[in-house]
Amino acid sequence: MGEKMKKRTGLFAGAIMFVLTMVLGVHLGIKYTVDYAVGSDATRKALNWSSYLITRMPDLPTLIETGRPNKQQIQKIQTTSEVGDVFRFKLFNASGNLVLISDELAKNLEAGARGDHSGKAAKVLSTGKNQVSLNDGTKKKNRPDLYVEAYVPVMGQAGKILGVVEVYLDQTATSVLFHRLFNLLAIAIAAVLAFAFGLPYLAFLKKNQQEQQSRNKANYLAKFDQLAKVLNRSGLMEQLRTRGLKSDFDLSKASVIFFDADHFKTINDTFGHKAGDAFLTHIGQSITESLEADDLVGRLGGDEFLVVASRETVEDIHALVEKIQSRVSSPLRFEGSTIIGHLSIGIHMGDGEEMSIEDRMQKADVALYQAKFEGRNTYRTFTHEMQVNALRRRTVEAAILSGLEEDRFEVYYQPLLHQKSKQCAGFEALLRLKDKDGNSITPTEFIPVAESMGQICTIGSWVLKTAIEAVASWPSDYFISVNLSARQFDDGSLVPLVTRILKEANVDPTRLELEVTESLLMDNTDSISAQLESLRELGVKLSLDDFGTGYSSLGYLWQFGFDKLKIDRSFILGLDHNTEKASEILDTIILLGHRLDMTVTAEGIETEFQEKILSDLECDHFQGFLFGRPMPASELAPYFLSLIDRGEKEQSEEIIAHQA
Ligand code: C2E
Ligand code: MG
Ligand code: MG
Repeated sequence: MGEKMKKRTGLFAGAIMFVLTMVLGVHLGIKYTVDYAVGSDATRKALNWSSYLITRMPDLPTLIETGRPNKQQIQKIQTTSEVGDVFRFKLFNASGNLVLISDELAKNLEAGARGDHSGKAAKVLSTGKNQVSLNDGTKKKNRPDLYVEAYVPVMGQAGKILGVVEVYLDQTATSVLFHRLFNLLAIAIAAVLAFAFGLPYLAFLKKNQQEQQSRNKANYLAKFDQLAKVLNRSGLMEQLRTRGLKSDFDLSKASVIFFDADHFKTINDTFGHKAGDAFLTHIGQSITESLEADDLVGRLGGDEFLVVASRETVEDIHALVEKIQSRVSSPLRFEGSTIIGHLSIGIHMGDGEEMSIEDRMQKADVALYQAKFEGRNTYRTFTHEMQVNALRRRTVEAAILSGLEEDRFEVYYQPLLHQKSKQCAGFEALLRLKDKDGNSITPTEFIPVAESMGQICTIGSWVLKTAIEAVASWPSDYFISVNLSARQFDDGSLVPLVTRILKEANVDPTRLELEVTESLLMDNTDSISAQLESLRELGVKLSLDDFGTGYSSLGYLWQFGFDKLKIDRSFILGLDHNTEKASEILDTIILLGHRLDMTVTAEGIETEFQEKILSDLECDHFQGFLFGRPMPASELAPYFLSLIDRGEKEQSEEIIAHQA
């Protein structure tokens, strides 16, 4: 039974008890009063009748003495019995012996009847005081239901007691009358009491009910999210605890699903906070509409929602989240704007393993994190591997943050060579990071993490500045190639940044190459095209990195006007396994690049065999461990000097400066 129900029942029982106590009290009071009134009335009447008999009975002393009434006396006795409530009387003589019974006049009193059985006549004779008793006749023969027996002394001259008169009075009618009267009185009293106490009690009940209602409302508000119209965190956790106690609910078999809106901050910033609120309501509604009666949903805070749902199969859970995703992604119109937002979703399937809800939520959160990492607007189901990855990602995140604070990022430079002369043409700037313990973390690992953390622009700007400042001190025919992340194109600050750094370092823009991958072009927005165009207008060269791993669309090549094509290392590696086929593909790519007026670079050349084939195919630039590994800035001067030694370079002032 609920707490509310218990309180109500308690109040109701209290009310019933109050009424019952009142009725019982009135009943007992009335009974006592009626008995008392009937007794008093009977005593008064009995005494009157006794006096009447004593004063009006002719020659009473003789009658007492003999017990034999004469004619006159018999008549008196009969009229007395006929008129009033007296249905019998007895006479006792001065010795206390019964001498006459009024309704047995004709008979001689039997010997046994002559005694004073109750001893009351004897008591009257000895004390001179009346003895009156009210009796219940319902169980006695020849007796009215209620009657009075009154023993009264018969006084003679000089205060001498001659005998005792015992009068029997029928009080049934009087009692009934009295009861009726007093019952009416009782009703009147009860009505007055009910009025006097009932109304305040009703008012009290009403007030109590109102207080309960407002308490319930406050309780409800404390557990409900007004905006999303779903439970809030504490409401959801309470529901889960309550459900956990029920035998028909098994949390270990239910799925725990985390939802998080993608780029919610952007929605708030673009459309305003009211629109952000409307979007949260939209999410709450979309989820609620997709759930079944037994499912639970709550908003944990911000743009995070949690669903706990039981379904038969994994496919059913996937169908559920897809339904929610598509509802949330449908356009939301708000005050003239159209908001289109998406959800990232993390699922922890219930496989029957006992686990706390907190642990389940943590695992669903890991899956959500994975969904975000893999491009958002998608869902992922928790796996153990994901947990390991998430842990590693946290370590990398920490290394990135501390790396920024403690200057632990470093730019390495890997040489690129002219194929024909094998002379150095320039360098690619490659970022390096070491964690606190000095362990290297590869860029393939930390760059995507930095992107998801929103730190890549800060890092990317620093790389650009460091690399451009480095090239300023190199022989003037060397270029520097810098990798860019797609995120660096997001806020439109890239072109001014590049312009400023080049100017400040006094570096000719033609000495700078910027490498982007096809994934950037797949977004194909006007903004990206415009920025690439501005960079080219500046004189900067554009290079399409890792060519062949993505869509390798011809469209990208001519539409964005790249200067350079960098063939991905996997094709060069392919030469070792399937030389003929890999050679043909490389030949095609190189021809294509040349047709479109692009310089073609082969990345990752490690062997002379690879070098030979690529030379035969007339690839323009070579990059790989065969010619030089990425090196820190401190190793550049010796490298340049080795070039001089090989006669590849004339000694220049810049190199002397480096050496110093
Ligand atoms: P990428 O731009 O394709 O760079 C070439 C990668 O191939 C480098 O890996 C380089 O060390 C490696 N490499 C070069 N020659 C050989 C070889 O002969 N054999 C082998 N096995 N590997 C070779 P690294 O430095 O680990 O960089 C990996 C990727 O990280 C880069 O691929 C680039 O996409 C990204 N990256 C590096 N630095 C930056 C940066 O400053 N900004 C951005 N956005 N991305 C960067
Ligand atoms: Mg590159
Ligand atoms: Mg590459």
